[in-house]
Amino acid sequence: MESIKRNILLNPGPSTTTDTVKYAQVVPDICPREKEFAGLMDGLRQDLVKIVHGNPDEYTSVLFCGSGTINIDVCLNSLLPEGGKVLIVDNGAYSTRAREICEYYGLPFIDMKYPVDQRPDLDEVEKTLKENPDIALVHTTHNETGTGILNPIREIGELAHRYGAVFTVDTTSTYAMRPINVHEDNIDFCMASAQKGLMAFTGLSFIVGRRDIIEKSKDYPKRSYYCNLYMQYEYMEKTGEMHFTPPVQTIYATLQALKEYWAEGEEAKWARHTRVFNAINNGLDELGFRQVIKPEWRTGLVSSAIYPDDPNWSFEKVHDYCYERGFTIYPGKISTTNTFRLCALGAIDEDDIRDFFVVFKEALVTTGVQIPVKYKE
Ligand SMILES: *Cc1c(COP(=O)(O)O)cnc(C)c1O
Repeated sequence: MESIKRNILLNPGPSTTTDTVKYAQVVPDICPREKEFAGLMDGLRQDLVKIVHGNPDEYTSVLFCGSGTINIDVCLNSLLPEGGKVLIVDNGAYSTRAREICEYYGLPFIDMKYPVDQRPDLDEVEKTLKENPDIALVHTTHNETGTGILNPIREIGELAHRYGAVFTVDTTSTYAMRPINVHEDNIDFCMASAQKGLMAFTGLSFIVGRRDIIEKSKDYPKRSYYCNLYMQYEYMEKTGEMHFTPPVQTIYATLQALKEYWAEGEEAKWARHTRVFNAINNGLDELGFRQVIKPEWRTGLVSSAIYPDDPNWSFEKVHDYCYERGFTIYPGKISTTNTFRLCALGAIDEDDIRDFFVVFKEALVTTGVQIPVKYKE
């Protein structure tokens, strides 16, 4: 097996993959309607529940063909009963995406908006739940990938349940990285896709959630055909197959990625991501970069650095210099502050970050940016 040029992706997914996962896509052609393929998907669905420690009698996983946003779409449009309202606890771009989905479907919602560098106020969340007994679904984002802030999902989930609402969490950028336990974390539904924490490829997304709630949603208003959770669940339970054509090669890669996930282990994998994250923060600190999120609120996967006030600073130039040398850095996702992001996803370790900072520093020197970087105030 020839090794493939290794790029270090510091963007928030897709992430750097192993060659074994890349090559797992190269398989004999197969029709996904064959029993052999359905058998593979059964094991895959069980593993996806196991990663978040779900009791398989209570929790199941449902697969979709699409990027991660399809999961948010499916959860919101499928799990809201007639007359119910959605509460979005929103401190970033991904929860704002949930808001836009509600708008597109015409779902009633309350958007509890917080600044992107602040955590939600739990007393306010409780007050809103108390004053709006029609809230049937509470949604938030675990790690706001736009900034790297960690939200208190366990506490929000507890409140949602106390007031009789279903709790859906966008865990796309924590799943299979930062350990999650759906029972302890009060999660009814979480979600991710194969190209993030699992270190496989785009095309396969999945929702892990409570069977009883999915069963109940059978009678909820049908707002989408392709993106209906119950329809896909029922079809998969009955036949073992996805309703429509699955992303065949991505599924083979994901199966290999799962093997590698279990071989590395939850704890060791999280320790590796933490090493990478610490190396990123140390590197940024040494160069004098400021970050948006205070250290104690960081999820430990995304660093959001603020552009220095240096006339020579050019994200594009620094990006291109690094990109040509095999390192990808990524712009921020905050409308009020200019930032760039360095993420700790993927099959990388702290040595890769050390190598990265050699190149990154060279890029700053070459483009004439003063080191340590300067800020006006
Ligand atoms: C990556 C990501 C998504 C999915 O984005 P796509 O562009 O659809 O893959 C959703 N939520 C969060 C928190 C993410 O990090």
